[in-house]
Amino acid sequence: MTRDPRPIAMSDQPAEKTEKAERRQFRAIKGTRDILPPDSALWNWFEQSAREVFESYNFRDIRTPIFEETSLFARSIGEDTDVVGKEMYTFTVLEQGIDDLRRAQDTIVSYPSPWNSPEHYEVFCRFVERFIEQFRNARSKGLLPKDQFNRLMFENLERDFAEFEGPGSGPTQQLIESVQNHADVIEIGTYLALRPEATASVCRAYIEHGMQTLPGNQKLYYAGPMFRRERPQKGRYRQFYQVGAEVLGPSDAPAIDAEVLEMLLTLFNRVGLANIKLYVNSIGCKECRPKYVELLRAELRKVKDQLKEDSQRRIETNPLRVLDSKLPEEQAIIEKLPRVSEHLCDACREHFSKLKDELALRGVGYEENWRLVRGLDYYTRTTFEVTAAGLGSQNAVCGGGRYDGLVELLGGPAGIKGIGFAIGTDRAILSIQESGKLPKLPGLAVFVAWMGAKAYAPAVAIAKKLRARGLAVELPPEELKFRKSLGLADKLGARYALIIGEDEAASGTFTLKRLADGQQDKLDESALIARVESELRGPNAR
Ligand code: AMP
Repeated sequence: MTRDPRPIAMSDQPAEKTEKAERRQFRAIKGTRDILPPDSALWNWFEQSAREVFESYNFRDIRTPIFEETSLFARSIGEDTDVVGKEMYTFTVLEQGIDDLRRAQDTIVSYPSPWNSPEHYEVFCRFVERFIEQFRNARSKGLLPKDQFNRLMFENLERDFAEFEGPGSGPTQQLIESVQNHADVIEIGTYLALRPEATASVCRAYIEHGMQTLPGNQKLYYAGPMFRRERPQKGRYRQFYQVGAEVLGPSDAPAIDAEVLEMLLTLFNRVGLANIKLYVNSIGCKECRPKYVELLRAELRKVKDQLKEDSQRRIETNPLRVLDSKLPEEQAIIEKLPRVSEHLCDACREHFSKLKDELALRGVGYEENWRLVRGLDYYTRTTFEVTAAGLGSQNAVCGGGRYDGLVELLGGPAGIKGIGFAIGTDRAILSIQESGKLPKLPGLAVFVAWMGAKAYAPAVAIAKKLRARGLAVELPPEELKFRKSLGLADKLGARYALIIGEDEAASGTFTLKRLADGQQDKLDESALIARVESELRGPNAR
């Protein structure tokens, strides 16, 4: 168990104060939030709609872990992106049984000047011996990360240690410092990160399970939480949710890209997202993109002085990202920069042109946006983004694109292409809520207002029967007075109150009251079930 690092109870505080501090209320962590009813029903409806639309395009669900090795994300998303550089939640996990090794490492690394006295030198050497022995032991038991770098650092440490000459000798001081430095960089734990996105995980799973041997392209979708330590604001959270889809396989036919975009817009239309705009672009492949990036870099260097700090830095690290800039003073300069569409190789130009034909064929409306380069490193060729109304500055509800080299970059087979997108569920929901066009979702159907001991057994029985038919039924656990019962039915938003008193219990009937207009009928069981079902499920159902 991890300890709460906040000292909530100091021992010299009065008992009363301590008790109060211990009873402090907990709150959700900054940037995270609870999704409560009735909003949660809207969330479920949205995710269910996505599942249905995606499955109608023959995509299938994939569930990957919420944490992975940090380097999976570093390698795929790119070291120089904000997501990897600043925003990941990372932690180190020690396998059980290597705590002693970790302690020996700490002691070696922090031992002050062991070359100064024979006693310190002796103790230090014993720690190094112990460290070497424990390291070998842990390695043979498979408790350490299998890492080329680790192996090399350990070999260097052993080699330097073997050459120690004794305290006070110049060479030994250098060797000790070298041993300390090597011990310092050896990785004893495994570095893990909460996933900031799911594409890397899906590709990792694809490779790990040899999914390239399955017939055709793999069409996969997922839904779940992602984690980025961004500055929270409207539509931007530290735990947020995405539903996304990926197509992985040997083909990169433009029809795949077009089908993915058609599917996306089908979903957005179905859930009634207002004012959606699809932007598409092509950022080239590994043949033409580097040449364009160099050209862009050269042009950007010429105007470096007119750019702000972030853009200036990106000229060297990732010039495409300069095109993402939203700073008003940089816009005129960016507009004059060379455009990627004018520097695509023949194959990429043809791919992009066929994609546009395909989109026309499918009736998918879009706008070309040459500045759409997307933040993540792994994209090639097609990139796209969808914006929606009601979201202020964070108006992107979906981003995606092609990533043809990613599977190979992650150690998978060559020649596997990929395309995918991720929809920000939080933002999609926010946009739907802001538009005021909320779907009519089934709420509480029947509130069973039972009164008198004799009414209880029939109430339990009919509640069970209605629930078995998929209706939401509330059965009060304790007897309520008639007025109170109907008042509660109303407050809970029930469609019907099903009144069962001693009379009804004796005659085996039920009084069904429609709360919207107060209409009331006495019915037997089968008539009751038929009425409720036809009104809630029939053509006039809400
Ligand atoms: P990305 O994975 O960065 O391409 O983002 C895809 C979509 O996820 C974006 O268009 C947003 O809708 C959503 N998204 C990304 N980051 C956040 C965040 N911090 N909070 C809420 N939604 C986000």
